[in-house]
Amino acid sequence: MGSEKMFIAEFHQRLVDAKDAKPKEDYYCPACHERLILRRGKCYLAHFAHQPHSRCSVSSEPESREHLLGKRQLAHFARVAKFQPVFERVYPEFNQRADVVLPRATRPDLIFEYQCSPISHASVLKRTSGYENHGLQVLWLLGPRYQVKRLKQTVLERFARFHPAVGLYCLYWSTRERGIIIRYHIRDRGDGTLTYMTQTCRSWSTFCQLFRRAHSVSEWPIDATRFRLRLQRQLFSGDRRWQALQRQCYPKHLNLIGMPDAVFTPLLTSLPLTGIGAYLTRALILVQLAGNERLTNPEFQQLIERANALAKPYNYVQRSARLGERRWQKIELQWLLQTRCLNEKATGYSCHLPTWYTDFNDWFKQTG
Ligand SMILES: [Zn+2]
Repeated sequence: MGSEKMFIAEFHQRLVDAKDAKPKEDYYCPACHERLILRRGKCYLAHFAHQPHSRCSVSSEPESREHLLGKRQLAHFARVAKFQPVFERVYPEFNQRADVVLPRATRPDLIFEYQCSPISHASVLKRTSGYENHGLQVLWLLGPRYQVKRLKQTVLERFARFHPAVGLYCLYWSTRERGIIIRYHIRDRGDGTLTYMTQTCRSWSTFCQLFRRAHSVSEWPIDATRFRLRLQRQLFSGDRRWQALQRQCYPKHLNLIGMPDAVFTPLLTSLPLTGIGAYLTRALILVQLAGNERLTNPEFQQLIERANALAKPYNYVQRSARLGERRWQKIELQWLLQTRCLNEKATGYSCHLPTWYTDFNDWFKQTG
């Protein structure tokens, strides 16, 4: 705390931008009302800072030059699009300061959070739900440190959102290009490596256009070999969470690594089936189907909920993109019917379990 730099301060009951502020006046933090230091210089953008050892608790992130510059550019970007952006609005109700707010007349206000420093999953969730619980919409735009690297699962987990037109996506703000970079149609190849498309949008309208083309996309065909090998590696390394999943298989005399190929059958869907969680869920559904000939509707419901609960720790992408459980269950049912693991009957389903392999080598021999 206290290391935060800001553009906006209170001055005689008004809010003043640091670039218009004069030295030797008294400026105060709009959140904690402590006196601030005004810093102006040739080497950095004018800004306010708390005194050392400040106890201000409304913080966004310790700001770098990159962060200040990005915020200025984002506000400009919004102004060109006819918004009237507001810097650093403080929401005392939930103790947060938004980087840039775009007030909207007929829809919830939109917030740009420009994230340059590392941040934990929990903090992103907390800030996001802080806004959303108060009827605000938030877009996280990631800074340079996130752009230089290839997209990683941990970033996806924290920041990915879902839209039918672009699938799973992450947003970036490029201070160099002065535009929003979007990585979209993000897919997991099965071993944790990600594929995606990239586009730079130098105007708000270009950005919005991307979201207007709604279309279904087929699931990315996952690389089943990589997926099984990864599973095998995790189990051999003694990972407890994976071993807990494997234990679900023992009573049925099955081996998780030998899951049927049906698990990897692609569906045509507008939802992103990505991440190992989705495939683990399918495998766990089949494990539980084993030994059943018929299921009533409530039995089926229970079974599918149980499989989802077991795979939940691995379904982080689906969770962070906030897709409802119901939508997933519908997709899982669609997949079971398409692969004929289930057939619809008058009062439920009949089950036909596909072949399981004994282990990786068995699968390799029979399919390779
Ligand atoms: Zn303060």
